[in-house]
Order: sequence, then C-alpha cells, then structure tokens
Amino acid sequence: MFVLLRHLQRTRREIALPARNRPGTLAVRHVDAGSCNGCEHELAATANPYYDLQRYGLNVVASPRHADVLLVTGQITTRMVDPLRRAYESMPEPRLVAALGDCAIACQGPGDPGQLAGPLEKILPVDLRIPGCPPTPQQIADALLHFMRERAEHPQ
Ligand code: SF4
Repeated sequence: MFVLLRHLQRTRREIALPARNRPGTLAVRHVDAGSCNGCEHELAATANPYYDLQRYGLNVVASPRHADVLLVTGQITTRMVDPLRRAYESMPEPRLVAALGDCAIACQGPGDPGQLAGPLEKILPVDLRIPGCPPTPQQIADALLHFMRERAEHPQ
C-alpha cells in the first residue's frame, strides 16, 4: 500500500497537475464492448478517494457527445461494432480512443471466437493502450494522467 502511495505521489509530481488551476479536463465516455467486468472494477477504483482522478479534471460522462475520449473495455463482440462506431461518430473533434485491458487491445480473453470482431484497432483508431488483465487502478491512473498531460502540452 505504501509503495503504491509513494508511486502515485511521484506520478502526481511528475505530471505537475495542480488540483486547482489545472490546464484542462478530460471527459471520458466508457463503453463495455464485451468484458468480464474485471477491467470495469479496476476502472471504477480510480474514482475512489485513494486515486481520486476527478480531482485532476478527469470525469466520466454519460454521453459520447460530451466526451473527449472513448474508453473501451472487453473483447469487441460483433454486436458492439456498430454501437462503437456510432458513439465515435457522435463525439466532437478532436476525439480520441483508448483501449483498456488486453481484451480490447489484442482480443485476448475468454470469449467465443465466433462472436468476436477482433482488437479495437480494427474498428477505431486507438490513441491510448492500457495493457493488463486487468490493469491495476495504479496503471490506469498513470496512463490516463500521462495522456492528459500530453494532451495539455500538445493540443490537437
Ligand atoms: S482484459 Fe482481463 S479483466 Fe479485462 S475484460 Fe478482458 S479478461 Fe476481463
């Protein structure tokens, strides 16, 4: 626990995002495209008081119309291909896509191969990959905060 806390504090210092007067925010629309819920569980933990990503301006939103990033978890089932494309098309520019977990990145997981559409990058352009099965909340927090810093430094 203390190792994690130290690591998170270091990440926060490196990112240098103050809790107030931060350079921007990141609105994330999450879509479960066919996961086992492991990735969702870890993603939800990043909103708890320990990681508290909202404090850094990272918010999960209910509609892709309000989102900067489409964050996808799970193996992409064939039924989810059209909803994912529609969600992406309805996002304002510049729109970004993140694949969270090995399932979304590489279509690795327990699903029935006959019902899978392949990795997310076959369907949408992927800007951020967060590997793991599932990735830990620490890894998710690191990746999203670094992504946020990159975006603030190099706006599209
Ligand atoms: S990457 Fe692992 S934890 Fe995440 S949805 Fe796939 S099987 Fe579940």
